[in-house]
Amino acid sequence: MTINGGISFWYATDLTATRPPRPPLTGDTTADVVIVGGGYTGLWTAYYLKTAAPDLRVTVLEQKFCGYGASGRNGGWLYNGIAGRDRYAALHGHQAALRLQRAVNDTVTEVIDTAAEEGIDADIHRGGVLEVARTPAQLSRLKAFHAAELGFGESDRELFDATETHRRIGVADAVGSSWTPHGARIHPLKLVKGLAAACERLGVVLHENTPVTEIAPRRAITPYGTVRAPYVLRCTEGFTAALKGHKRAWLPMNSSMIVTAPIPESTWEALNWSDAATLGDMAHAYMYAQRTADDRIAIGGRGVPYRYGSRTDNDGTTQERTIASLTALLTSFFPVLAGTEITHAWSGVLGVPRDWCATVTLDAATGLGWAGGYVGSGVATSNLAARTLRDLVLGERTDLTTLPWVNHRVRRWEPEPFRWLGVQALYAAYREADRHETATHTPTTTPLARLADRISGRH
Ligand SMILES: Cc1cc2nc3c(=O)[nH]c(=O)nc-3n(C[C@H](O)[C@H](O)[C@H](O)COP(=O)(O)OP(=O)(O)OC[C@H]3O[C@@H](n4cnc5c(N)ncnc54)[C@H](O)[C@@H]3O)c2cc1C
Repeated sequence: MTINGGISFWYATDLTATRPPRPPLTGDTTADVVIVGGGYTGLWTAYYLKTAAPDLRVTVLEQKFCGYGASGRNGGWLYNGIAGRDRYAALHGHQAALRLQRAVNDTVTEVIDTAAEEGIDADIHRGGVLEVARTPAQLSRLKAFHAAELGFGESDRELFDATETHRRIGVADAVGSSWTPHGARIHPLKLVKGLAAACERLGVVLHENTPVTEIAPRRAITPYGTVRAPYVLRCTEGFTAALKGHKRAWLPMNSSMIVTAPIPESTWEALNWSDAATLGDMAHAYMYAQRTADDRIAIGGRGVPYRYGSRTDNDGTTQERTIASLTALLTSFFPVLAGTEITHAWSGVLGVPRDWCATVTLDAATGLGWAGGYVGSGVATSNLAARTLRDLVLGERTDLTTLPWVNHRVRRWEPEPFRWLGVQALYAAYREADRHETATHTPTTTPLARLADRISGRH
C-alpha cells in the first residue's frame, strides 16, 4: 500500500515532525530584513545575514512550516547544476558563466561544511553524480554534455563506457555515463529543519503558519499583521504565482517522486550501487534518483508537469498514473526490483522562469529582493543565492554580487490558456521524443525535442 502525499516521504517518516509549529505572527511589527518563505533560500539568507551582522533583526514568514515546499520534498541531489548557465554565457561571455559555475561547484562544499559546523546531520554522503545514457541518442547527448562541462572547467569529470557504468551502478541497458565529484546525496528535510534550528540559535525570528498575501516595498502583509522592514525578500520559488501581482512570474512546475521499501543487502549487490552516487539520465523527460541512508531508492521525474492557472499544491499528493509510470521507470532501470513495494509517493513544485534562468535580485530603490527560478537545481544554488542576497542587502560589492545571474530580468509567462497548452505540448513532445529515440535507436536527438527546447526557451 503506497502512502500518497503527506508532504513527502522525508516528512512522513520524520520522527520529529510532530514538534509544535513555531508561533504565527500576532500583529504589526518591524524588522531590518523580512524574508518570505522558510525553504532553503529564505533560511540560508537569514542564516548568512545573521552570521555576518548579528545585530540585524531578521524575520522569516512561512505560510505553513519550514520545509513545507520543495526543500522538504526534493530528490536530495546537492550538486553543481545551475539553470541558465549557457544562456548567461551567451549574454555575458564564457568567463562570466565560468565564474558562476565555479561558484556553484564551491557551494556543494560550502553546504557540506556549514552543515557539519552547525551539527546538522542530513545523511550527507559525497558520492558524486552519475548520469547515464540508455539509448544511442542519449549517448550522443551525454558526450556533448560531458564536453560542455569540461569546457566549464570541470577537469575532474569522467566519461565511462557501458562496462564501467555497470560497475558503478547496474542500470539496465546503460551504454555510457558521465560522473562528476561535485555532488552529494542528502536527506532534504533534515537539512532544512537543521537550518531552521540554526537560524533560531542565531536569533532569527521565525513565524510559521503565517501566509504573506502581498509583498510591497518595505512591507510584507499577512492576515495577522504587517511586518515593515527596509528590505523585503521574496523566497517563495514554486509558490510565487500565488502572490498578488506575480501570477505569470515563475511557472510552478510539478515534480513527483516515489520511494521503495528498504532493499535487502543481497539485492544491493545485484544493483552494484555501493558508493551512494546520485543517479540521473539523459532522457528528455529526465529522471533523478538516490540511494537513501536507510537503503531505499527514491526516484523522481515524469508526471503531470503543470496544473492549469498555476495552481500549486495539495500537500504533495500526486496522480496514480504518475506513481505507475515512476514504478515502471524504476523497474526498467533495475528489473530485479520488479514487485518491490513502493511505500510513499509525493510531488512538489519548482519555479521555472520564462527563460529557464535562475536569478538573484535586489532592487536598491524599493528594497525588494528575490532569488529562485532554479528549475530542478536548487539544493546547492539556493545557498549561493542566499550568500549573494546577504552581500546585496549589506551593500557590499563582492565576487558574488558581480556574478552574471545577479539582477537578471525576464519577461512573464503567457496568460492562460496558452501557458497550460504550451507546457502540455512541450512535455508531450519530450515524451514522444524519448519513445522515438528508444524505439528507433537513432543516434541523434529527435528534431521534435530540439524544436520543443527552442520554443520553450529551455536551451
Ligand atoms: C520533487 C522535487 C525534487 C527536486 N529534486 C532536486 C534535487 O534533487 N536537487 C536539486 O538541486 N533541486 C531539486 N529540486 C528543486 C529544489 O528542491 C528547490 O529548487 C529548492 O528547494 C528551492 O528552495 P526554496 O527555498 O527557494 O523554495 P521552497 O523550498 O519551495 O520554499 C519556499 C517556501 O516559501 C513558502 N511560501 C510560499 N509562499 C508563501 C507566502 N505567500 N507566504 C509565506 N510563505 C510562503 C512555502 O511554504 C515554502 O516553504 C526538486 C524539487 C522538487 C519539487
